[in-house]
Amino acid sequence: MRHNRGVSSTETIAKAPVAEQSPVRAVLAEAEGLARAAADELGEGEVGAHLGVHAEPDSAGVAATHRFAAELRGYRGWEWAVVVAAAPDTDRVTVSETVLLPGPDALISPSWVPWEERVRAGDLGAGDLLPPPENDPRLAPGYLASDDPAIEEAALDIGLGRRQVLSREGRLDAAQRWYDGEYGPAAAATLHCGTCGYYLPLAGALRAAFGVCGNEMSADGQVVHTEYGCGAHSDTVMAEVAATPVSEMAYDDTQLELVQLPAQPTEVTPPSPENLAAEPPQGE
Ligand code: SF4
Repeated sequence: MRHNRGVSSTETIAKAPVAEQSPVRAVLAEAEGLARAAADELGEGEVGAHLGVHAEPDSAGVAATHRFAAELRGYRGWEWAVVVAAAPDTDRVTVSETVLLPGPDALISPSWVPWEERVRAGDLGAGDLLPPPENDPRLAPGYLASDDPAIEEAALDIGLGRRQVLSREGRLDAAQRWYDGEYGPAAAATLHCGTCGYYLPLAGALRAAFGVCGNEMSADGQVVHTEYGCGAHSDTVMAEVAATPVSEMAYDDTQLELVQLPAQPTEVTPPSPENLAAEPPQGE
């Protein structure tokens, strides 16, 4: 943005035509040529079509802005805004400001986001540095009572504490995050972590509701809520089922194959000696 000497903000000028209510004084509306000449004088490139004129808000009719299409490479959709002014008791118009502003369809860069707000959970890797925000409410100096007996105990044991410890707010923050996270209470679970042999309870105040899963087949190493649960719970028992489910033994008589069997030989009664004697000899 160039030649903006602080009369109107980008937002004000860009939105002014929409909110335009007050009429433009004739003497200011007729100063299109003066405004165009002022934009030309910058020598930045061709000044395009006149896009309109509107009264400057809160100027009591003293100032108006003429807008021209800016024919500049790389500034598609931008406009020259030339503010002209004339005192109430005179027809003498002067140029107050010439500024290049984005129009409604201009291609502009996204809003600036401070770098510390760009880092998201999970973005940090080993070796990356991210100092805590100044006056982070989640941390409390180590010499203050931390409101967590386990932290106090550990500090006493070794004769000194950490320079900073999690404050009550920090612990509540973490507990809420874990509760709402992937390993929070699971309504569908029939067996819960709190009764699982793989469950390692946290120390301190968070012990009441959270622990770490130590089952490599499940949420290994993750903080889980006592009411989370999974199918790898240590008390899980597989129900014994028949090798072939009974329901699969359906008899479908529409699929019978009819097979033609060969004819069986009829039973022959062996001749008795009396019958043989009664029979005439062969060839007679
Ligand atoms: S194995 Fe499953 S039930 Fe057991 S602690 Fe891990 S996640 Fe919880």
